Amino acid sequence: MKTVTTIEELRQELDAARTQGKRVGFVPTMGFLHRGHLSLIRAARAENDMVLVSNFVNPLQFGAAEDLEGYPRDLARDAAMCEGEGVDFIFAPSVEEMYPEPSPIRVTVGSLGDVLCGRTRPGHFDGVATVVAKLFNIAGECRAYFGRKDAQQLVVIRQLARSLNFPVEVVGCATVREPDGLAMSSRNTYLGAEERKAAVILKQALDEAASKIRFGDRDAAKAARLMAETIEAEPLARLDYAAAVNPDTLTDLDVIEGPALLAVAAWVGKARLIDNVTVVPE
Ligand code: AMP
Repeated sequence: MKTVTTIEELRQELDAARTQGKRVGFVPTMGFLHRGHLSLIRAARAENDMVLVSNFVNPLQFGAAEDLEGYPRDLARDAAMCEGEGVDFIFAPSVEEMYPEPSPIRVTVGSLGDVLCGRTRPGHFDGVATVVAKLFNIAGECRAYFGRKDAQQLVVIRQLARSLNFPVEVVGCATVREPDGLAMSSRNTYLGAEERKAAVILKQALDEAASKIRFGDRDAAKAARLMAETIEAEPLARLDYAAAVNPDTLTDLDVIEGPALLAVAAWVGKARLIDNVTVVPE
């Protein structure tokens, strides 16, 4: 495995691999890897000839009051985990390598960035789309693996790849959870012991609403209200949103007749946690 820090070197390595007919699997991350990331790496390993993992905490996607400085980082630990998974290249550029000069250029995601997490994190998905567009241009033709845990991000990136004709096949992967149901996240490290126990409320709220929908309740607003009430009943959690939306467009549903994306976000201590499930009524 090789750790690469410059765009130039990565392009040379990947071009050489593609010249030999190798297919590239790409897993973009912000590092501090956990089993969720490893599941993406394993999918990439299984379906391609070589695997690239990027490790870059992207300043553009953090709001002024968010946790950019405190975001957990440990490249040596990540590199050891990647090596254990048979990764070929880690791309770990500096901020200066990715953003060498101030630039007004942004990819904007329009209405996809105004809903769900975008309401509390204005500009976040423009920041995500901009860095992913850069990473796709740097990586070139590949399959790129993203977690469904970040459902809105996955919708944005699928649309990005289609709209801007990147030679990238976007693959969505299932959410990996702790034994009690909490979705794995680098931000779970912010949780104290009591907060960690309370954090399971997000998944519980999703499961309750999903089971009501499966058993015939088709009212999307009611499902959203039920999830909100469940989370609000947990003293250590502070609700951001609870919603039942169309999984492809992220627009609000009225009557649930097809697949519905149930999505929630809440602060537990200083961690802002998100989770979602997709439910199909019988
Ligand atoms: P991050 O490092 O948090 O930006 O995440 C990098 C990639 O890993 C994104 O595509 C995430 O959706 C994915 N990911 C994060 N947590 C999980 C999880 N618990 N299960 C599956 N994928 C995940």
